[in-house]
Amino acid sequence: MRFLHLGLAALLCASCFCAFSLYAQNKPLHGIDINDIDRKANPCQDFYEFANGTWRANNPIPPSMVMWSKRWAAGESTKEVLHGILEEAAAHSSSTPAKSTDRLVGDYYGACMDEKQIDAQGVKALNRELELIQSIGSVADLERAIARLHEEAIFAPFAFGSTQDPHNPQQVIADAAAGLGLPERDYYFKDDDKSKETRQKYLEHVAAMFVLAGSDKAAAAAAAQVVMRMETALAGASLTNVELRDPYATDHKMKLDEVQKLTPDFNWGEYFRALSVDPRVAFNVDQPKFMQEFQRQLQQTSLSDWKTYLTWQVLLTAAPALSTPFVQEDFAFNHQYLQVTKEMKPRWKRCVEFTDADLGEALGKKYVEKTFSPEAKARMQEMVKNILLALHDDILTLTWMSNETKQKALEKLSTFNPKVGYPDKWKDYSSVEITRNSYWNDVVEARRFAVRDDAQLIGKPVDRLRWGMTTPTSNAYYNPQLNEIVFPAGILLPPMFDVNATDAANYGGIGPVIGHEISHGFDDQGAKYDATGELKDWWTPADYKEFQSRGQCVVDQFSGYTVAGGLHENGKLVLGESIGDLGGVKLAYLAFQKSMQGKPRPPDQDGFTPEQQFFVSWGQARGDEIRPDAQRQFVLTNPHPVSKYRVIGPLCNLPEFQKAFSCKAGDAMVRPVEQRCTVW
Ligand SMILES: [Zn+2]
Repeated sequence: MRFLHLGLAALLCASCFCAFSLYAQNKPLHGIDINDIDRKANPCQDFYEFANGTWRANNPIPPSMVMWSKRWAAGESTKEVLHGILEEAAAHSSSTPAKSTDRLVGDYYGACMDEKQIDAQGVKALNRELELIQSIGSVADLERAIARLHEEAIFAPFAFGSTQDPHNPQQVIADAAAGLGLPERDYYFKDDDKSKETRQKYLEHVAAMFVLAGSDKAAAAAAAQVVMRMETALAGASLTNVELRDPYATDHKMKLDEVQKLTPDFNWGEYFRALSVDPRVAFNVDQPKFMQEFQRQLQQTSLSDWKTYLTWQVLLTAAPALSTPFVQEDFAFNHQYLQVTKEMKPRWKRCVEFTDADLGEALGKKYVEKTFSPEAKARMQEMVKNILLALHDDILTLTWMSNETKQKALEKLSTFNPKVGYPDKWKDYSSVEITRNSYWNDVVEARRFAVRDDAQLIGKPVDRLRWGMTTPTSNAYYNPQLNEIVFPAGILLPPMFDVNATDAANYGGIGPVIGHEISHGFDDQGAKYDATGELKDWWTPADYKEFQSRGQCVVDQFSGYTVAGGLHENGKLVLGESIGDLGGVKLAYLAFQKSMQGKPRPPDQDGFTPEQQFFVSWGQARGDEIRPDAQRQFVLTNPHPVSKYRVIGPLCNLPEFQKAFSCKAGDAMVRPVEQRCTVW
């Protein structure tokens, strides 16, 4: 809940004319990285090690990172580009026009870098929020305080924002989701030693933050108990992250008076007015049971405990933007303990990340001007088109799907909207007042803007030009309600993508990411949304049953994989991502095959055929290393499998891989025919 929870729609979450022109100019194209391959490993036994083992051996995970690969390294080097942009903007901001993009990002970054001022302000930076909480004297005051904190995107105990109406996807409605302090509801209940230890550490962390905010030790320890008690009660009424994968489980559209019946002691009319949202709009309550628990807490928890709980939410949200002791305590628990990061990133890098998070489209605009060429965009768009075509052809040949469902699937495919690089329309930040006087005030300004910017969408037709990730982000997503696949410029870097790379390298690198995002339109969640983005069953019952049994094959395959400490992957949790990877690699491979038709066969590279290059590129682009001690939290909370299994899981099912490397039946990378999973 510490992140800016806006736009609550679930983000599930990679032979063209420019290539021809490059070939025509005889420019040498980059291929796969031969030196990263571990030739001691057998590709038919452990392809993860073979494709990228030498790179991983030579590039240990930096202490400030949990995962590491060439892609992660590319993401970190993007931050160096952004660093250059921001240092320059900050140095010259006083001479740049007010309200200009340079002034905005320069002053925000400059204030963030002013550690001396931030340290001198200490907890006083939070006076406005803490005084608001201390002034609560009645339930009406409490409600007003919750609304005021929500204006700053301090979303407790629930998060609020816009979402597309799952039953009328052209329209945006209001949405409320549950929120907790620890990463997942099971953290509050699991009975194993590690979970007990985590709760103990959380209590100590909450208490330490209250001490930093001025409480004495005994009061701080008591405050931590209050926070734990309230959060545990709210967690008890929350869905698990596997349950949350079912869109029907969070589909509860109501009128305001119905929501009012769930929580009679919370004045929703006032709340909507405070956030400038028309109370007549439709409202989806993700988790009605959570709201009933909220009601119980309103009735049974004293105002003094509520004040403690809200104070904690402010401290939790603000800590990374406060003075050094807060930053260190936040890092010690949330990063060092929970995520097992060894070292904090340097201040400049954290300030770059905060600028990206808070003013992403201002910074993103500067970033693409510097880095992303029209040729790169065109080549990427061509690949997306070809991979969509590959799925089109694939659907036509599926033997397990009826013509009736095929028709609907093709209809859905034809309305896919790919977005590449950067938004066509950038956000207008002219209402955001950034100064060099107080970094926390700047953060609040940016957060208020984000809340307003999101709230103004509610009750209106959907705006298809908006993006759910910032331009420099090294990631991609599928949004089922918009039926769109989105690839920010930040992921379109080697080893994923290079405008000067071979088709084998690009189709094997970003290709499976494109195929993966497309496949999300047809995974366990995406299959429940139709071509218009409506939450609706469009499968015949027999086809859907077959689809589920094919999904079960993937669940069983991944549940069989173990990570450090003997923990198993949770096949149900990683199902969507794993169907995405399986479909993604296959579709990218089909598109790559098609791209070679009618042209001279591309040359081998260091003895590797084009087909082998394709698979090596997949292994290199996807082959992250994750700290062994971080695998536990990853496996418990992340819907992706750890990278080793992301690389080898799909390949073991693909006869195309077996053929490319002449692997034999019985090899570890070849699943027995009767156990092979195929969905798309
Ligand atoms: Zn995904």
